[in-house]
Amino acid sequence: MSDTESRNNFPIDEVIARLREAVRPLPRAAMFELAARGYDSLFEQIVACILSIRTKDEVSLPVAERLFAVARTPQQVAALSVAALADLIAASTFAEAKAPQIREIAALSLAEYGGGLPCDYEALTRLRGVGPKCANLALGIACAVPSISVDVHVHRIVNRWGYVQTNRPEQTMTALEGKLPQPYWIELNALLVPFGKHLCTGTRPRCSTCPIRQICAQVGVTNPR
Ligand code: SF4
Repeated sequence: MSDTESRNNFPIDEVIARLREAVRPLPRAAMFELAARGYDSLFEQIVACILSIRTKDEVSLPVAERLFAVARTPQQVAALSVAALADLIAASTFAEAKAPQIREIAALSLAEYGGGLPCDYEALTRLRGVGPKCANLALGIACAVPSISVDVHVHRIVNRWGYVQTNRPEQTMTALEGKLPQPYWIELNALLVPFGKHLCTGTRPRCSTCPIRQICAQVGVTNPR
């Protein structure tokens, strides 16, 4: 079977079913965990995603909760000084840069959108500090808009499967939009973040105990466990 035939025949329904079982005992990805704890507004999801950039979930999740305990609406965030905001989010990587971005988004929300934010990809990616990954994740979780959020885990894993062949996350997003069934678009990130952190890890993935090892092409995997 050629690579192309192999990719087109990839049993994605079966893979998703096995992934659901595999990640069930694992901690949820930070944004989905925050939504489960009630922080599911578009503003909260955008802010939490900015806080998660270059920051481990174990750090960004409590940082988001610390901020939201003080300010969780655009009105409340805009009432804080940048210095106070930076202090609240200090444990997040690049907090000094993120504080003015978050405050600017709060002010723009009040000035342009009546204290909300639009469920619109173009509008969200125009916000300073918000890229495709955060826009799509927030759109999916807060707005239920079918969106594929591609982070390092999603990019690495779907390439290892042989499901896509791409070099950059932006290419992966486009490739997945062309072949992944839409009902899985939001869920894919929720599955592959814990799967990538604990099983299909960046170095030495745990292939010997992987529930989809018979399906995966293991592209580029040279030293599995
Ligand atoms: S078989 Fe290995 S490379 Fe493939 S998904 Fe499983 S852990 Fe990842």
